[in-house]
Amino acid sequence: MQVHDSLVELMGNTPLVRLRNVTRGVTRPDGPQVLAKVEYFNPGGSVKDRIAVRMIDAAEKSGQLKPGGTIVEPTSGNTGVGLAIVAQERGYRCVFVCPDKVAKDKIDVLRAYGAEVVVCPTAVSPEHPDSYYSVSDRLAAEIPGAWKPNQYINPNNPRSHYETTGPEIWAQTEGRITHFVAGIGTGGTISGTGRYLKEVSGGRVEIVGADPEGSVYSGGTGRPYLTEGVGEDIWPETYDREICDRVIAVSDKDSFTMTRRLAREDALLVGGSCGMAVVAALRVAEEAPDDAVIVVLLPDGGRGYLSKIFNDEWMANYGFMSSPTEESTVGEVL
Ligand code: PMP
Repeated sequence: MQVHDSLVELMGNTPLVRLRNVTRGVTRPDGPQVLAKVEYFNPGGSVKDRIAVRMIDAAEKSGQLKPGGTIVEPTSGNTGVGLAIVAQERGYRCVFVCPDKVAKDKIDVLRAYGAEVVVCPTAVSPEHPDSYYSVSDRLAAEIPGAWKPNQYINPNNPRSHYETTGPEIWAQTEGRITHFVAGIGTGGTISGTGRYLKEVSGGRVEIVGADPEGSVYSGGTGRPYLTEGVGEDIWPETYDREICDRVIAVSDKDSFTMTRRLAREDALLVGGSCGMAVVAALRVAEEAPDDAVIVVLLPDGGRGYLSKIFNDEWMANYGFMSSPTEESTVGEVL
């Protein structure tokens, strides 16, 4: 029988899919290829499954996580899902801490997996006692048997991408990749995948970060933006400053507009950081030579954003769309 004993076995090995429609008018017919690494095919629905299993494996090996222990982590949702799936398989309790800008749907998902979730204000500094960083530190100290993976400093975060995402992309493109584009949150994806691709290609592959306008990676001060899971107001240890050749800043409006286009034009129902990464990838494609093979990583699916990015009223309230009724009427008639 073809059976898997656990969903954990199905993490990674996600497909590479050509972006055929949102690229029209940007890339020439025989010009650069833009290929999406679609991470929602992971069992937890995001790229974060990869780091979850790698971090837990390492903590079990080192003895930091013992049978019956509790996993405490500040997470915007996706890392929590990955951790919750592995925790269920292995009998751990999960307590997650989220900033309040995270979509309610995402928090409900974590609770559905059986995790406990504590919600903290976004608009406070990281040092503030109510920040999601501080609250998770306090809980990790107070709960007996608690272990905090800390995806912002854990070397197994970038390492998981060095060992899986990078080699998968190299094999899938038969070594023809010329550019890798990904959003930067903890920096684990771009640092680990980027390091692998640079090493294996002898430095030939160009690594391009995508960042919400206002975040530190593209020269901002941490000014709030609405794109979830990416951008920072601090420089995490998991971000290797040697790897990115270039970081492209993308506005929330451009990110969300592209996110909606990906669903309508390429049938990819994905999250806002995916739209952001695709905007950056298309900017790279505009300037790249015809034989370029650009791989853009799409971190998660779009179902967690239905009440925000995919909601006309929400988009109009933030000025990201002119008139919701007008757009949907025109869309229906055409
Ligand atoms: N997009 C989303 C939706 C995420 O949850 C994350 C992880 N924070 C990222 C992008 C960025 O990935 P990384 O942390 O590896 O930089």
